[in-house]
Amino acid sequence: MENNNGRLTGNSGVPVDDDQNSLTAGDPGPILMQDIHLLEKLAHFDRERIPERVVHAKGAGAHGYFEVTADVTQYTCAEFLSEVGKRTDVFVRFSTVGGEKGSADAERDPRGFAIKFYTKDGNYDLVGNNTPVFFIRDPLKFPDFIHTQKRHPATNLKDPDMFWDFLSLTPESVHQVTILFSDRGTPRTYRHMNGYSSHTFQWYNADGEIYWVQYHFKTEQGIENLTREEADVLKGTDPDHATRDLFDAIEAGDYPSWRLEMQIMTPEQAADYRFDPFDITKVWPHGDFPPITIGRMVLNRNPESYFAEVEQAAFSPGNFVPGIGPSPDKLLQGRLFSYHDTHRHRLGPNYHLLPINAPKTALVRNYQRDGLMSSGPVAGGAPNYYPNSFEGPAPDASAAPPPVSVSGWASRKPYSHPNDDFVQAGALYRDVMNDEERARLVGNIVAHLSGALERIQLAQTALFYKADPEYGLGVAEGLGLDKQRVIELATSSQ
Ligand code: NDP
Repeated sequence: MENNNGRLTGNSGVPVDDDQNSLTAGDPGPILMQDIHLLEKLAHFDRERIPERVVHAKGAGAHGYFEVTADVTQYTCAEFLSEVGKRTDVFVRFSTVGGEKGSADAERDPRGFAIKFYTKDGNYDLVGNNTPVFFIRDPLKFPDFIHTQKRHPATNLKDPDMFWDFLSLTPESVHQVTILFSDRGTPRTYRHMNGYSSHTFQWYNADGEIYWVQYHFKTEQGIENLTREEADVLKGTDPDHATRDLFDAIEAGDYPSWRLEMQIMTPEQAADYRFDPFDITKVWPHGDFPPITIGRMVLNRNPESYFAEVEQAAFSPGNFVPGIGPSPDKLLQGRLFSYHDTHRHRLGPNYHLLPINAPKTALVRNYQRDGLMSSGPVAGGAPNYYPNSFEGPAPDASAAPPPVSVSGWASRKPYSHPNDDFVQAGALYRDVMNDEERARLVGNIVAHLSGALERIQLAQTALFYKADPEYGLGVAEGLGLDKQRVIELATSSQ
């Protein structure tokens, strides 16, 4: 067969003689079943969509690199962090959380900030957000929480009662709610926001010494946010504005970059810290754990196929490399299961073989075989069982993380460190925001919470009052609530 470049073919490679007229009996005639080209074209079209992500459905992504700028070998033996100047390829996906695949980029929502590092020891994924904290700290609450941020089961409408009912009954959410309704709840673009691990992770060095760490990717474009009014306009006029911005900036050679700062805590510091360092509703104050700059990430290449690279990208907080491991953060522990599981549902059991998800510089060698859409790597007649005497791949004990001591009774209980769900939300309101930012925060809350039932408004406003009385009374004023009732509610549940 001659080179058929330029010639239209079917999926089996055979030439197509006509792509405009279906094969009919007579004129116009019924279409014949033997028009296999038509049948195959329609059948493939019918299957073009895969299930959208249940959260983070709307997103944009880009390729780039991460470069180490400071020696961190005293904290971690991760190969990709082993030398100043070392570069590792990355793929990053940004997203909103609650909306569907066609929803607007300007929605008030946390933004996903997921990074896949293609390291020599295999892929390392950091699946974070643009906020350093989260609404809940136990994965048992996650499906309920997400239900409330999506559509009502009967009306299929976004529902302020659902949204605020759950939050008002979940006091630990008030810190993240305060960030969400601040200016940072509507970043101007994906380039103008920070990315945080949010969770605490474990680093360990070559001597097996353990550290607890948090990652902060600080935007080098500067933080820029939309006002509520600007976001409302963009939602209608340009629902894909952040997707376009990222693509256009990279296409124009204006590569966005982020500085990686780490907060690092020793196990001794963690043991007697004033709150639980694994509680994802809290930040580690900068004053106690000053961030150390250790690297820089640059995005410099757009995807060629949105579907193949962005839609099929499968990140998991469970993808660790030697030198990095999980912490006891309960929400993280739930995510270690959920991400791999959702990818099996969305993309099939061989999702890790797709080019965007496969390691680039590490070999995959194991005894897993077959399954839906198995396409390689081809192991041929090599053993598909272990142990074997045919020199099949063998475990490498040097990749083992240091042992961690765990003890205690199996029971269901909340975090046991002394806890205060309101102190950091209050600090953000009082000490970090200026008068204008506080006014916009209250205005954003009032605009949304006013859609909920009055008893739910009262319960939620009491939480704001507990974070800071002025904050709560400002929201009460905006909603026209009885301030005395807010104070009674807040003080009676203390
Ligand atoms: P600092 O004064 O050292 O830090 C305040 C930080 O707040 C800033 O560095 C900035 O984070 C961040 N910030 C500014 N505006 C907003 C906003 N509208 N929404 C969310 N974050 C904002 O104080 P502390 O470290 O003691 O923290 C005080 C409060 O600041 C915390 O309770 C928390 O709400 C918030 N915060 C703290 C962070 C931390 O890791 N310590 C990170 C983010 C927020 P950045 O430098 O990351 O841009």
